[in-house]
Amino acid sequence: MMATLTKALKPILGRQLGNPAKVFGAAVISQRGKPTYTPPPAKYGGRHTVALIPGDGIGPELLNHVRELFRFSCVPVDFEVVHVNSSSTSEGDINNAIMAIRRNGVALKGNIETNHTMPPNHKSRNNLLRTSLDLYANVMHCQSLPGVQTRHKNIDIIIIRENTEGEYSSLEHESVSGVVESLKIITRNNSLRIADYAFRLAREKGRRRVTAVHKANIMKLGDGLFLQCCKEVASGYPDIEFDSMIVDNTTMQLVSKPQQFDVMLMPNLYGNVVSNVCAGLVGGPGLVPGANYGRDYAVFETATRNTGKSIANRNIANPTAMLLASCLMLDHLKIHDYANMIRGAILTTMNETRLHTADIGGQGTTSEVVQSIMRIIQSGGPLTTEI
Ligand code: ATP
Repeated sequence: MMATLTKALKPILGRQLGNPAKVFGAAVISQRGKPTYTPPPAKYGGRHTVALIPGDGIGPELLNHVRELFRFSCVPVDFEVVHVNSSSTSEGDINNAIMAIRRNGVALKGNIETNHTMPPNHKSRNNLLRTSLDLYANVMHCQSLPGVQTRHKNIDIIIIRENTEGEYSSLEHESVSGVVESLKIITRNNSLRIADYAFRLAREKGRRRVTAVHKANIMKLGDGLFLQCCKEVASGYPDIEFDSMIVDNTTMQLVSKPQQFDVMLMPNLYGNVVSNVCAGLVGGPGLVPGANYGRDYAVFETATRNTGKSIANRNIANPTAMLLASCLMLDHLKIHDYANMIRGAILTTMNETRLHTADIGGQGTTSEVVQSIMRIIQSGGPLTTEI
């Protein structure tokens, strides 16, 4: 049995072992194991160009701060700004945004509001963008941050969430009045793909254990397949421990003893819930960056993808998550010195509790935080820290 599995997985596992540089970027391998060409991110005259999608709510102001900070720090990145009007029923805007990401390879985005009163066939623009570009891996690194008071300390969890299927298939119907069927799609190919991504990342980051999160006791076929695929992939990574946990127990364990988790791997909706729990554990949605990776493209945003409409344009949003997302983007572009410089200044600023924004118990404003980061950079401040 094991020999058959190993043979079946060889095209996936064999090619990717010992190839860590591609973990955050475009892997040059197709699902069928055939090599394919992935264009590098756009770069002209030594400068990178990146699509910038401001989105709604606090997105535009936070991304303006990113641009200001990049200009100030002489980061060699130019932005192609693409606005998406979330109240329009036309798909023109989102198609332009998708085209801009295809052109540039990389994007930084705010969350695009999803209007729940739109007809059921109106797809979430964020979801459409992720599925059109096949951004199959959502990655969030949730870490206790310096200076932020939280109930639990020393949290260091990487969450890998399948980002293209599961409960987000947008396949719902009410063929019989009063009976809605909502389809959750789990496929073997995509489950193997995300599991392999998680194990590769765990190995690259020197992590010890991967925990698959599921509800296979109830969704025996769907979650059962996901879990089976995780087990199969795990057998190709004997250096990494593998275990699994049912999603309800997982959320309870997270809020009582989060330090027990290392790398967590899960389907789409559980990923959404668990990411939000984890963000809450380390201080909230304003602190944690997120990334979406596919074979060809990468899109960076805040981990919990909030719009923050009620705090928009008031200069009170916490800019940390979006600024750290921009650092992940710089890492992806392999301009690590700039990423480290900005990240170091952000983390140093976090230690200044008087500058904390209201969401983490302070009275500081968004622009005060950004100005402090600039002052630290100007003074040749810390060149540290990978988070
Ligand atoms: P609203 O912000 O209009 O309440 P919502 O209920 O959909 O919209 P989200 O946008 O999902 O909320 O955000 C959840 C909560 O997190 C909100 O209270 C929001 O204000 C807060 N929040 C999100 N991002 C930030 C941020 N960067 N800084 C501070 N608070 C934030």
